[in-house]
Amino acid sequence: MKRVTGPTDHVVVVGAGLGGLSAALRLAGAGRRVTVLERELVPGGRAGLLTDSGYAFDTGPTVLTMPDLIADAFDCVGEEMSDWLTLDPVSPLYRARFADGTSMDVHADVEAMCAELETVVGPDEAAGYRRYVDFVSELYRLEMRDFIDRNIDSPLSLVRPSLVRLAAIGGFRRLAPKVEQFLKDDRTRRVFSFQAMYAGLSPYDALAIYAVIAYMDSVAGVFFPRGGMHAVPRAMAAAAEKHGVDFRYGTEVTGIERRGRRATAVLTADGGRFPCDAVVLNPDLPVAYRDLLGEQPWSVRRLRYSPSCYLMQAGSSASYDEMAHHNIHFGSAWRQVFREIIDEGRVMSDPSVLVTNPTRSDPSLAPEGRHIYYVLFPTPNLDAPIDWVAEAPRYRDHVLETLEKRGYSGFGDAIEVEHVTTPLDWGRRGMERGAPFAAAHSFTQTGPFRPHNIWGENVVFAGSGTQPGVGVPMVLISGRLAAERILGPDPTYRSRAIR
Ligand SMILES: Cc1cc2nc3c(=O)[nH]c(=O)nc-3n(C[C@H](O)[C@H](O)[C@H](O)COP(=O)(O)OP(=O)(O)OC[C@H]3O[C@@H](n4cnc5c(N)ncnc54)[C@H](O)[C@@H]3O)c2cc1C
Repeated sequence: MKRVTGPTDHVVVVGAGLGGLSAALRLAGAGRRVTVLERELVPGGRAGLLTDSGYAFDTGPTVLTMPDLIADAFDCVGEEMSDWLTLDPVSPLYRARFADGTSMDVHADVEAMCAELETVVGPDEAAGYRRYVDFVSELYRLEMRDFIDRNIDSPLSLVRPSLVRLAAIGGFRRLAPKVEQFLKDDRTRRVFSFQAMYAGLSPYDALAIYAVIAYMDSVAGVFFPRGGMHAVPRAMAAAAEKHGVDFRYGTEVTGIERRGRRATAVLTADGGRFPCDAVVLNPDLPVAYRDLLGEQPWSVRRLRYSPSCYLMQAGSSASYDEMAHHNIHFGSAWRQVFREIIDEGRVMSDPSVLVTNPTRSDPSLAPEGRHIYYVLFPTPNLDAPIDWVAEAPRYRDHVLETLEKRGYSGFGDAIEVEHVTTPLDWGRRGMERGAPFAAAHSFTQTGPFRPHNIWGENVVFAGSGTQPGVGVPMVLISGRLAAERILGPDPTYRSRAIR
């Protein structure tokens, strides 16, 4: 495995996103002196916090999966996650609502899910689901250890028995037709293939190996931290601080001082200079290359980006009894949704949307009797010719009309506090092309073909722009992989985190 060269006594981590925090904990646990420079006043990055009038809104991720990876980061400094964070299972994982008025609850427990499928669709679908769970469970076993959770220096290193087995079970076929082998009902197919969107692709284009995302939520389960998703980075930063990590919030990094391909110091907007032996860069990778290292290799310039999203966070006096914590409202259209957003650069004409109601699990996030609604509409990224300054007010009307039609009666009138994030805002917050889900996970941007996490003699990357990819579990792993580039492989890790 390629490693940084020279001393590694003092490591500067730029960015306290989940990727940066994961790296910082591991480096501190291995005895390195670690300084974290974060532009914002709180840790978390995309998993940030927005408070307004007694409401505490999560700014990014809402679906928390694979908590063992968080526990492992705590373990690196000898801490128990449960002393810092309370995670409650979310049940049902999702409530899916369809255009024909039917709905389906998604459960992590296979028996409960089969019972739901027998009721909503029929016994054959339940039997197909059992086979589907076997398939995604095998995918997970084959992919996690050999392809996701390790530093990959060359595509040749992937040639191993698990690759052959992945091909044999159809991992390199397209996702949608693979799911259709197991599930016959159009509604169930959507529920177990929409996750391709997390990877920035249509299920008709994504490889079936991405069904592993469905394993991570639908089979392994979804959790919600008491205090909201931001409780995760807050707890990780507090544990890191206890173990000596020096956090400097409100500190924007403006450049990396270099001698050739060796970083010698990190420079900040307030004139600070932090000499370092190695650097971990957690800002969005293409932006970090361009703005901090002052160059962008071709492998980065050529990237294609995932769709973006329009996010509305509403503090509201309305409550909707028929809603679960996570609700996916599918429109009639399906293939067309992906065609419009990804291929044609247009907003969805018949939207499929996510509405999360976190106060259902933790009422303390809002004033008494009030609720939070997190409404996410996938949109094209800034490569599309949409003027979001002009479009945003019109799109807001469209969002409210859609919600009204999907059962949220009186939604607009009940809003007391509202915050909207458009693709333009994601761009302003430092995400290339306004794409908060990073470069798409197409075949040529996956695994060894995704930008590498090491540059020059002593610079490594952590976060969704590098390997293995986007999402909370993946960026936690990216932090581990970044630390490994500095520390060398951790011989105790495999037995700790992979169950
Ligand atoms: C709306 C939305 C919904 C999502 N939903 C989910 C979900 O449900 N489940 C899931 O698993 N994932 C979800 N994700 C994806 C997940 O949130 C991200 O993949 C992950 O949080 C990214 O972490 P990161 O460490 O790569 O980067 P970031 O969180 O972006 O962290 C980068 C950090 O670097 C800091 N920084 C940047 N530039 C500088 C600078 N010049 N100087 C100093 N500091 C700097 C930033 O302030 C930030 O703190 C969602 C993302 C979004 C935006």
